[in-house]
Parts: sequence; structure tokens; C-alpha cells
Amino acid sequence: MTATNLLDLDLEGLAAFCESLGEKRFRATQLFRWIHQRGASDFEQMSDLAKSLRGKLAGCATVTGLPVLAQNESSDGTIKWLFDVGNGDAVEAVFIPEDDRGTLCVSSQAGCAVGCRFCSTGHQGFSRNLSTGEIVAQLWFAEHFLRRHLGRDERVISNVVMMGMGEPLQNYGALVPALRTMLDDNAYGLSRRRVTVSTSGVVPMMDRLGADCPVALAVSLHAPNDALRDDLVPLNRKYPLAELMSACKRYLEPAPRDFITFEYCMLDGVNDQPEHARQLIEQVRTSGVSCKFNLIPFNPFPASGLLRSPAPRVQAFARLLADAGIVTTVRKTRGDDIDAACGQLAGDVKDRTRAAERMAERRVVMMRKAESSPPDRQPVGEAAR
Ligand code: SF4
Repeated sequence: MTATNLLDLDLEGLAAFCESLGEKRFRATQLFRWIHQRGASDFEQMSDLAKSLRGKLAGCATVTGLPVLAQNESSDGTIKWLFDVGNGDAVEAVFIPEDDRGTLCVSSQAGCAVGCRFCSTGHQGFSRNLSTGEIVAQLWFAEHFLRRHLGRDERVISNVVMMGMGEPLQNYGALVPALRTMLDDNAYGLSRRRVTVSTSGVVPMMDRLGADCPVALAVSLHAPNDALRDDLVPLNRKYPLAELMSACKRYLEPAPRDFITFEYCMLDGVNDQPEHARQLIEQVRTSGVSCKFNLIPFNPFPASGLLRSPAPRVQAFARLLADAGIVTTVRKTRGDDIDAACGQLAGDVKDRTRAAERMAERRVVMMRKAESSPPDRQPVGEAAR
């Protein structure tokens, strides 16, 4: 019999597991606290559990985190870990300290099949979904490592963003129990507004998340119209902007004071013109979605063929949105020196679905199109090269 890794279970799952061992459900709460609040993995340490239960657990369960392959600390305090998830795959998590919060950016998949053009993970291709335990293990390790590292007894990580490698809503079954563990007062006790799922727009799963576990939602928008978004975020061909905006509206219906964060990566000459800002304003007005915009200076990597928008253009773009009454921030780049900035997480994955190959093919086709187009008709993305 393979031992059950208890990091795979939320409190409900752990209660069912305890019952299957002939134990009372409340034992699960004690066990859950030992694992997540105190970082324990050795059942013998769990002194308020009956010796008989500790014996049973030792025979059929483990608390097994992910081996750390590398740890890099940036001069700005950002820490990036590379975790081994087996079979030659590795994923990354990043801790970003700020004055009033500590944010952990967590991965949900080894690689990603969506293939956004500006994203380093997308260029790696897709290997597999992470399990609930592999998602939770990133937080479990980081929280307890940081407490030891900083010599603190109380919680260090106050916010989690599911913005590492992968499209979380394409790994829904593993994601939801992981989110429940993050929110549980017997584990990390994070408020639902401090746990953010970022999606490129998997519309049916946005509806399910709203019903099952309505945490904060960020949407990777990156383009103000379907033609451009089809190119930058290929999932748009399946769920175009009108559907995406309606799904955002529905997501907020039960909590009208909440808002969607639209992530917008600023790409030189591609999506950063005043006309694009005006189109975004129109999208927001017609859809009626309460939102704020987070403009992200692009972190260039050679395979993308894209460049970062100059800072004055980003500021001018932000001003246009703000003047239209849309709360707009420009993300500070953090962890640049250790490749931990947004869109730079590449990990190391075996591309089992040939997603990277298909991206490369798409890129060759686009370059051919660009070569045969008159200069003023070049596809916008390639024009930036
Ligand atoms: S931006 Fe997100 S959804 Fe797009 S390829 Fe990267 S990880 Fe996947």
C-alpha cells in the first residue's frame, strides 16, 4: 500500500482519512495544525496525538514536501526556489517581501499549455499538472523556512498569488483543496482576499471557482481587442473577450465590493499605444466589470522576440486609464537579478504535449507572414522585434 501524503488533503479530506483509520474527525484538526501551523512532518513530534494514532499514521501516511534543487536570494530580498517534482520536471516559487506584506507566488503546473507569447513558462511547453500536495508543499516549505530564516514565530507569508508556472484553472481538481488549505484557520488562515488565482481566461472554470472557493481573481488580459489577444494569449480563440468580460461580471455578482485585477504586460509597439488604452477603457465601460489594472513592465527573454515598453510610455498609458477613473498601478519589478520577475519563471520541464514545438511553429508562420506583408501591415507583435 502506498502511503498517503497528508499534504494532499484539505481539512475535510483529512477528517475522512482519520475516520477511515477508525479515529474521530476532530483528530484531523489537531493533525492539520501540527502539519501546517507548526511545520511538523514527524508523527512522533505530535505529542497531543494518542500514541496509537501516531503508530497508525506511521504505517500508512507521510508528510512529504518537495526536494529543493536550488535557492536564490535577490539583493532586494526576493527569494526563488526551484523544486524537484520528479521525472526531470522542476517548478518554481517566489517569495516577495514588502513593508506591509509577504507574498508567495506559487506554481500550479509543470510548464503550461496555454502558450502566451510573452511568457517564459509558456515557451517551455507543458509537462503535467501538479497534485494538491505539490501546490501546498511550496507554501508549507516557504512559510516554515522563512520563519526559521528570519527568526520569527508568527506568520511570514500573508498573501499567496497563484501566478507561478501554469494555468491554475486548467488544474482545477488539485487547485481547490489547495486553496481551502491556504484559507483554513487551522492551517495558514489567509483571508480570501489575500489569495489570488490568476487566469488567462478559462471561462467555465471561473464560474466554478466563484461557486466553490471565491478567492480574489486576476485575469491576464494583455490586449484590448480579440485580434491582438488571439495572438498574445491563444486561449482567447476559445473564450473571446466578450465571454471573458461576462464571466468576470458573474464572478463579482455575489460580492459586489470585490474587483477583478486585470494584468497587462506592456510590450513595446505591440499593445502599449494610446489607442489600446482607449479600447481598454471602452471594454471596461461596456462590460461594467469593477476592476483595477496592473501594468507589468515586460521582462524580455530572447525566444519571445518582444521588448519592454519604455517607462514614459507605460506612465502615459497608466495616466490614460487613471484619467478614465480606472485604478491603475504599475508593478515594480522584483527579483530581476535572479530571474524571479513576473513571466520569467521557467523551471525545467519535459514538454510532453509538444506545446513548445507548436509555439515555435506558430512563430515561424508569423515571421513568414511578416516577411510577405508590406511594412505597415506587419503583425504588431513581430513589428517590435
Ligand atoms: S502567462 Fe500564465 S497562462 Fe500564459 S503561458 Fe504563462 S503561465 Fe501559462
